[in-house]
Amino acid sequence: MIIDCHGHYTTAPEPHQDFRKQQLAHFENPSMPTPQAARISDDALRESIENNQLKLQRERGADLTIFSPRASAMAHHLGDSQVSQEWSRHCNDLIARVCELYPDNFIGVCQLPQSPDVSISESIHELERCINELGFVGCNLNPDPSGGHWTAKPLTDESWYPLYEKMVELDVPAMVHVSSSCNVNFHATGAHYMNADTTAFMQFIQGDLFRDFPDLRFIIPHGGGAVPYHWGRYRGLADMLKRPPLATHVMKNVYFDTCVYHQPGIDLLFEVIDIDNILFGSEMVGAVRGIDPETGQYFDDTRRYVDALDISDDDKHRVFERNARRVYPRLDKTLKARAK
Ligand SMILES: [Zn+2]
Repeated sequence: MIIDCHGHYTTAPEPHQDFRKQQLAHFENPSMPTPQAARISDDALRESIENNQLKLQRERGADLTIFSPRASAMAHHLGDSQVSQEWSRHCNDLIARVCELYPDNFIGVCQLPQSPDVSISESIHELERCINELGFVGCNLNPDPSGGHWTAKPLTDESWYPLYEKMVELDVPAMVHVSSSCNVNFHATGAHYMNADTTAFMQFIQGDLFRDFPDLRFIIPHGGGAVPYHWGRYRGLADMLKRPPLATHVMKNVYFDTCVYHQPGIDLLFEVIDIDNILFGSEMVGAVRGIDPETGQYFDDTRRYVDALDISDDDKHRVFERNARRVYPRLDKTLKARAK
């Protein structure tokens, strides 16, 4: 089967966004009406999925998407901790409903209710709720809840450890995923996302996180940002900084997805990065939705690039399925329970 490790609910029905607008308006001005939970019917959910993510999943031949709330809308920098808690619950509940409607096609990953300068411990309850009660298999962790100003400590800092302890206990990985940017220097998907992917990797080199948490696992999306292209730089930096080789220091715990929207990029990813560290992903419907005029194909039809690689069927099977089942053990367990 083909598992897409990176999909977002970017097409949630309008009332969901309306709730968010009301929520933020009420936060800015408490005399504004208290936001009411959006009423969204199953039919509205079906329509939003069947005409978008599910349609593309079927057309492009994937089977199951690891599905999370729209990343750019997490916007942890807006409102306060309570606003973030409430918004995250709404977003995660919607993902749970989609997964319940289409259990064969989607499995959930949660947004965490992070806020700048608020302890990550405040996110643990929602993680537990999503994993234990909603059947989710992982979380998205924002390394920069400030939305482009990087006020948080590096991911290797002990302030993050309470979440990591819980992730290890629950046996779930996190995708390192920033949200929208409120810094005009950084376009969200064009700069902020790529910066964060690259930044997280460098933090892992500098720190000793995986010595403290040998079982902790992260997916760095978007093909690992700039990392594979600059692999020599990172190996050289690890050496200069007297860090162990990347293979043992970082790459037993870190995985990259295939959200690289052209063939030469995928070729390079597979040439540089061990195949056991690559998970198939598309990030659809998401960052880049158009058709590449050079190929006539959608940029984010990432299966096409993997199919075109000169690698064995067994290697493709790892990238499409086995690696994801290894990195997301709860996904594997859920599939096995369904005899898959
Ligand atoms: Zn994403």
